[in-house]
Amino acid sequence: MKVLVVGQGGREHALAWKIRQSKLVDRVYVAPGNPGTAQLADNVDISSDDLPALARFAKDEKIDLTVVGPEAPLCAGIVDLFRQQGLLCFGPDKAAAELEGSKAFARKVCQDHRIPGPQWWTFDSLARARAFLENRPDAPIVVKASGLAAGKGVSVCKNNAQARTAVTECFDGRFGSAGELVLFEECLEGPEVSLITLTDGKTIIPLEPARDHKPVGDGDTGPNTGGMGVVTPVAMPSRVAHQVETQIVFPTVHAMNREKRRYQGFLYAGLMLTANGARVLEYNCRLGDPETQPLLMRLKSDLVPLLLATAEGKLDTVDAPQWDDRVAVCVVACSGGYPGDYKKGVPIFGVDKVDVGDDLQVFHAGTAMRGADLVTAGGRVLAVTALGADVEAARKRAYDALAGIQFDGLHYRRDIGVARAPEEGGPSRGRS
Ligand code: AMP
Repeated sequence: MKVLVVGQGGREHALAWKIRQSKLVDRVYVAPGNPGTAQLADNVDISSDDLPALARFAKDEKIDLTVVGPEAPLCAGIVDLFRQQGLLCFGPDKAAAELEGSKAFARKVCQDHRIPGPQWWTFDSLARARAFLENRPDAPIVVKASGLAAGKGVSVCKNNAQARTAVTECFDGRFGSAGELVLFEECLEGPEVSLITLTDGKTIIPLEPARDHKPVGDGDTGPNTGGMGVVTPVAMPSRVAHQVETQIVFPTVHAMNREKRRYQGFLYAGLMLTANGARVLEYNCRLGDPETQPLLMRLKSDLVPLLLATAEGKLDTVDAPQWDDRVAVCVVACSGGYPGDYKKGVPIFGVDKVDVGDDLQVFHAGTAMRGADLVTAGGRVLAVTALGADVEAARKRAYDALAGIQFDGLHYRRDIGVARAPEEGGPSRGRS
């Protein structure tokens, strides 16, 4: 069969890499792809936002399955468009993807269906948001643009003054129309876990839990990024895993059915494990980037039957996925200045010297070719992902590989996988 992957980041490189290994697949296309995907698939020069051109390509090339990586085309209705044209496309339709496209909608779903989250308030005007802040005690609070803001629309504010600045930026258009509606949320505390679930709206298959590291600096300092690194699995006590499944994942899928927005695809729940139990920080309507890279390196089963069954609404017919027992650590190499402004077109050295294989991969994210040279083309440039018998071994393999890669301005976190929270210590073995 022929598969088309939509997107151009590290997540899509990992998806194409994994799909390429499937016995069911003869040919993989990636639109638009990157230099990493070009090594194992056919890149197609169509933007991931050009939905009509993608549908035309899928029709002309008789693509059997299209797998959508990023949220923007899902929220714009790529699945609906493909369905109208009789094409099979993996991911939630536009109505279901609103779980990510509108944080206000996601909070309302949680509230209406008693899914645990922080207290929250929405504002459609700066004046009302500021009045709210003036009438509350000075305390930490989280400010979020409701719409899609590439992971950057969230500010965890220490006090009301910071919140005033953050909300003013939202209404001043920093995030475009995504900031026309703003949420304030109670500031929760605790370790964070990403749990991604595969669901066709009836059957639910949770993938292994992962821990993302969003702030740019070691020790979780500095501004948030799209994600600086991931460790998976993280051990979740069975009591917590049970609470997450029964109070969050199952009710969310059920809630979406009740809302007449059947959810088919990857459902990503960003969770905080507070002293009072797990709480939903956010939903995403697709795989995380960079969670995908270490998760797919640990997935032993063929991904394609899982994707097909989900898109066809037959997830009850497939076997549960098998996971490599080893730990995966992914470290993201970034451009100088990221998550702020950064230069593009900076030559990258050493990637071709990395001895990639079953336990080490360098997934491309923001890279491009300039003639024969590999250069930077984004903030997050490469996702170096390694397997090891334990966290330490995986960390060592990833960081040793990174030491051989250079470009001007290169920076990355040095503490991905260093134990901070109790659950992160020792050799993690998933949900024990
Ligand atoms: P989000 O994109 O909504 O997951 O938010 C990005 C990051 O902001 C999360 O990974 C958390 O570290 C933090 N965050 C989001 N919501 C809250 C909250 N209600 N309380 C504390 N931290 C939060």
